[in-house]
Amino acid sequence: MGDIDYQSLQLDYRPLPTGSPTHHPVIVVGAGPVGMSMALDLSRHGHRVVVLDDDHTLSVGSRAICFAKRTLDVWDRLGVAERMVRKGVSWNVGRLFFRDAEVWNFDLLPEAGHRRPAFINLQQYYCEGYLYEECEADPRIEIRWKNRVTGIEQHGDGRVTLTVETPDGAHTLSADWVVACDGARSPLRKMLGQEAHGQIFRDRFLIVDVKLEADFPTERWFWFDPPFHPNQSVLLHSQPDNVWRIDFQLGWDADPAEEVKHEKVLPRIRALLGDDIDVRIEWVSVYTFACERMDSFRQGRVFFAGDAAHRVSPFGARGANSGVQDIDNLTWKLDLVMRGHAPDALLDTYGEEREYAADENILNSTRSTDFITPKSETSLMFRNAVLRLATHHDFARRLVNSGRLSEATFYTESSLNTPDTDEFTPGLPVGAVAPDGPVTQDGHTIWWLSRLGGQFTVALFCDEELPEPELLTHLVNPGSQSIPVRCILVVPPGLEGDVSPGIEYVVDHDAVLAGRYDVRSGACYLIRPDQHIAARWRAVGIAQLCEALQRATRAQEVSSCHN
Ligand SMILES: Cc1cc2nc3c(=O)[nH]c(=O)nc-3n(C[C@H](O)[C@H](O)[C@H](O)COP(=O)(O)OP(=O)(O)OC[C@H]3O[C@@H](n4cnc5c(N)ncnc54)[C@H](O)[C@@H]3O)c2cc1C
Repeated sequence: MGDIDYQSLQLDYRPLPTGSPTHHPVIVVGAGPVGMSMALDLSRHGHRVVVLDDDHTLSVGSRAICFAKRTLDVWDRLGVAERMVRKGVSWNVGRLFFRDAEVWNFDLLPEAGHRRPAFINLQQYYCEGYLYEECEADPRIEIRWKNRVTGIEQHGDGRVTLTVETPDGAHTLSADWVVACDGARSPLRKMLGQEAHGQIFRDRFLIVDVKLEADFPTERWFWFDPPFHPNQSVLLHSQPDNVWRIDFQLGWDADPAEEVKHEKVLPRIRALLGDDIDVRIEWVSVYTFACERMDSFRQGRVFFAGDAAHRVSPFGARGANSGVQDIDNLTWKLDLVMRGHAPDALLDTYGEEREYAADENILNSTRSTDFITPKSETSLMFRNAVLRLATHHDFARRLVNSGRLSEATFYTESSLNTPDTDEFTPGLPVGAVAPDGPVTQDGHTIWWLSRLGGQFTVALFCDEELPEPELLTHLVNPGSQSIPVRCILVVPPGLEGDVSPGIEYVVDHDAVLAGRYDVRSGACYLIRPDQHIAARWRAVGIAQLCEALQRATRAQEVSSCHN
């Protein structure tokens, strides 16, 4: 499929046919990147979903550009990442400059054997355009444009009603569950009497997308106090279609209306790139940033995700990336509860885990912003001393902070985890995201993560012997569990011939997984539908597995425990 001009796409308002249902199992409010990802994930779990959006356009001007490996892994699970990666600019390397010298450079993904790079850069309108097209092609998803939610009420009988204004007037819908992905200003948050608490930074940033022909490397370049923009910072990123993103820190006193004028912007760009470069400004805007979140992401039967729940500064690219991780966390829990496989209490852990993640993101984002924009003379002196030392000293490099870039949050403190009873390398704790790696299936090299996700997986890593037949028979018999669990054997080369027909297996042909999962002489991992590790053992029995599954789902009992 070719690319269209997503920025000027006008999406159709469709009047509701007479007699269309007024009650839906789930309604998502907001068709931004988070709302559309939520809709796709619900559909992949077999649920029909209605999405309401007050607008009829996609992102205009590029807001987000950096999408992280973890987000791409989630979008792979939803079947939309490949197109984004093909269009996007992949990068792993960042360079830091202080004044006119390079201080240091870093590689965010130095090891091979991962399907996706540390980051791609892709304009938010492409990202939204691809998500939208995927939603449009899905018969279980209905996006209703120009449908503004103006009222919400929760009832004792488990229904939520929404008042929706459309070009044809207002009507009421009801749902069992509502997911509010209605952005940073979140009208739903206000309607439910909730506030976001945090900090607004007293600084302004000029953000410019320019089109130009240049053969700079596809790396992230960040300058502290450069000669072409003294006392401030500058960030440069490449995007598809020869578009480059430049962020100029301006200071709090800058006048936004003046700064966006092209006659003011062009000299700044020329000072950075040189006079002889031919540039065309695509988009320009001045921003201030906030780090804040709601106290509780669950409000009865309404869940808040993405910017509606939390906001961060763009240093570190944690906005949309963490929003996609929200929906990754929420959907499987909602799915199990909607199917009656898990109790309502499982949904409380959405708040527990994602509020923890939001705090981690806000902490990282605040620290970056403080380092980039020192608030006092002393902080500025400290910052500059660190930058000088970082050229030669490793300890100082660890203090340099131009935006610690988005990574998946490890739910190490989650109440859904079964703590280790056996010894494993601490680098991969319970609660971490399952690492990827190349494996062989049916003679083809595939990615391990493509076998995980959407449901619980028991990964049995075999050493020289296959596990007890009784354990396998139990695990692969789909009738034996109320909660669907998939079992995959991971075997070293040469053992595949011993695997009985009907048992799913992959070959760890280069022992990449054996190393990443610290398998040594075999191990068993219980991996959640969102690919986080729930439990693991060096050797496991059915009772232990069932207990861990019960804990990870808050289920009263898992039927197979009593078999
Ligand atoms: C300059 C800039 C650079 C950024 N860079 C990055 C980056 O590199 N990486 C990154 O991950 N993030 C980045 N971000 C953040 C990112 O853009 C946001 O986090 C992301 O758009 C949030 O997505 P969302 O779906 O939660 O909300 P939004 O994209 O805001 O979508 C909310 C939707 O809800 C709809 N809506 C609102 N009210 C109603 C209502 N009452 N009824 C119905 N619909 C409603 C809106 O029309 C909108 O479509 C950046 C942001 C900025 C400003």
